[in-house]
Amino acid sequence: MARMRVTVIGCAGSFPGPDSPASCYLLEAEGGRLGIDVGNGARGVLQRHAELFGIDAICVSHLHADHCTDLEAYWVARQFTPDGPRPPIPVYGPRGTAGRVRPELGPGSDHIVDGSDGQRRFDFRELEPGSFGIGPFLITADRVNHPVETFGFRVQHDGWRLAYSADTGESDALLRLAADADVLLCEASFLDGQDTRPDLHLTARQAAAHAARAGAGQLVLTHLVPWNDRDRTLAEAAAAFGGPLSLATSGLVLGPAS
Ligand SMILES: [Zn+2]
Repeated sequence: MARMRVTVIGCAGSFPGPDSPASCYLLEAEGGRLGIDVGNGARGVLQRHAELFGIDAICVSHLHADHCTDLEAYWVARQFTPDGPRPPIPVYGPRGTAGRVRPELGPGSDHIVDGSDGQRRFDFRELEPGSFGIGPFLITADRVNHPVETFGFRVQHDGWRLAYSADTGESDALLRLAADADVLLCEASFLDGQDTRPDLHLTARQAAAHAARAGAGQLVLTHLVPWNDRDRTLAEAAAAFGGPLSLATSGLVLGPAS
């Protein structure tokens, strides 16, 4: 497909829910496929939307389990396929991402995991703030405000702009990443009155305020924690953003109108 297509694979916040894995998004354009985050359970559902080895690269926003833990599941699939180990694909992430892929295979197996046999399954690349290309996509990464190093992303292709908050508290970097974005995929982990410590997560209302200030065309709330009331999440966001607003669901497809 020529134009960009975004499929929400997982939108559950903090841990998987009954209807969705944790964070994962599939971006496709011009035959290229990029995964953003691979949280708990995502590597399974991702197979409904792309061939198991059809992913060209992965970006990991941060190293909390609900955003990266299925990298390990993907390592196992890439290592032990009956057709032989798969060549490495780029995995962009914060410092330490390689250390989160440590499957416990038993004594004497470290050389398989760390690739010292020349059979690495992933080519790890450390994220820094700035812009770079991955296949057909232009990515801009910037640090957002969360207890561990975390990157939000802006992804552009053919004039269409997606912004993804990753996990963050209130953030000027998020405003820049989302400036005039066609769609802002923004975390909404909290409801009004819940824990709103700075530099942790956003309430739905704060997410909506970021979308409004950034001039985003459409807001899709994600990282929805399973114990939160979805209707209340939507209502609290609607009070601060007047544009098209919805809640992410696993399988939701976003992209430029054809
Ligand atoms: Zn997190």
